[in-house]
Amino acid sequence: MSQEVEVTAIDEQPRKEKTNLLGLSASRLGDFLESLGEKRFRGTQILKWIHQLGVVDINEMTNISKGLRATLADVAEVVLPEVVSCQDSVDGTRKWLIRVDGGSCIEMVYIPERERGTLCVSSQIGCALDCSFCATGKQGFNRDLTTAEIIGQLWIAAKSFNQFDPQVDRRVTNVVMMGMGEPLMNFDNVVDAMNLMLDDNAYGLSKRRVTLSTAGVVPQLDKLGDVTDVSLAISLHAPNDELRNKLVPINRKYSLQEFIDSARRYLDKMPDNRRKVTVEYTLMDRVNDRDEHAQELSVLLRDLPCKINLIPFNPFPGTEYKRVTNVALNRFRDILHNDGYTVTVRTTRGDDIAAACGQLAGEVNDRTKRQERYKKRLDEEQVVKIVG
Ligand code: SAH
Repeated sequence: MSQEVEVTAIDEQPRKEKTNLLGLSASRLGDFLESLGEKRFRGTQILKWIHQLGVVDINEMTNISKGLRATLADVAEVVLPEVVSCQDSVDGTRKWLIRVDGGSCIEMVYIPERERGTLCVSSQIGCALDCSFCATGKQGFNRDLTTAEIIGQLWIAAKSFNQFDPQVDRRVTNVVMMGMGEPLMNFDNVVDAMNLMLDDNAYGLSKRRVTLSTAGVVPQLDKLGDVTDVSLAISLHAPNDELRNKLVPINRKYSLQEFIDSARRYLDKMPDNRRKVTVEYTLMDRVNDRDEHAQELSVLLRDLPCKINLIPFNPFPGTEYKRVTNVALNRFRDILHNDGYTVTVRTTRGDDIAAACGQLAGEVNDRTKRQERYKKRLDEEQVVKIVG
């Protein structure tokens, strides 16, 4: 009897988890080293090894004493998410499928342009917001990504472009938090990951080249300006609450005006007063693409320093929405342009590999049953189509 109890006790002893150094920002790395009785500045050395040189084996960090390397190897490790596949589009867009702990996969996209290369990074497995026109929402939600899983995406892209070689030109010049998930719903991990993107001892990107995009989680947006000054993009998609309530359900909680006021407060916190918010507006045929919508949007944004980015809707299996026509897109753009706004149209990239905005679906181990319901509805509609 007593032996049995002993065996159970050993079995139940939790395996001591090692700390994943990949996800520690400079200050957290400093705290971690201090907790080991070491000097904080060792953290800077480790940061450079991991994020500037791409070294993940603690033993290869040769400017750190053998003794400390041995101590570190006992309690810490550098673990990256696993790349399942990597696809290239005919237009140079690259898409990765990345497995994260727990069996789900997230997607990440790289979009090369003339003077820049933008990496579109995910912040959550799936998304809880369920915007009606977004493929990610249909996948349901599993969990937040850890800081390591977020910054690990940039590491993976940097590695794949051989960027850790100082002789090689940097391919990833910009990061947008516009992959799967709502970044402000995973506030702390996203802020830590962005701190690593900005850190001169890590990726050293400028604050203008890192963009957080949000569908309008107002209380978190109000906190964001106290801890960072990255670029901000706001996903509006509608010029009034009635329409936005249908497209972006979180609008029922935080109205359009509250959202815009909060974005304005974010800008007010920035040290320089020339910053602008990017307004994202996904155009869907006969949903939000009429002249009246453009005119209403123009009035709505009057007091917000902003530029407007129009995104033609990208279809995905089962969606009832259609892409805006070119005629409607041009009219919409011209109305805003004539009212003095800077308007850009996001060209559709990588749609041959389903890498365009809103097409990122990954493989979400859904915990909300939303995916199941959505698939069931699709199947039923399929049956109706066949029978009808
Ligand atoms: N949750 C954040 C981050 C996602 S960013 C946010 O909402 O801002 C992805 C951008 O692409 C958002 O502006 C989103 O609304 C838009 N988008 C989503 N689905 C789309 C689709 N099918 N076609 C075009 N744009 C889409």
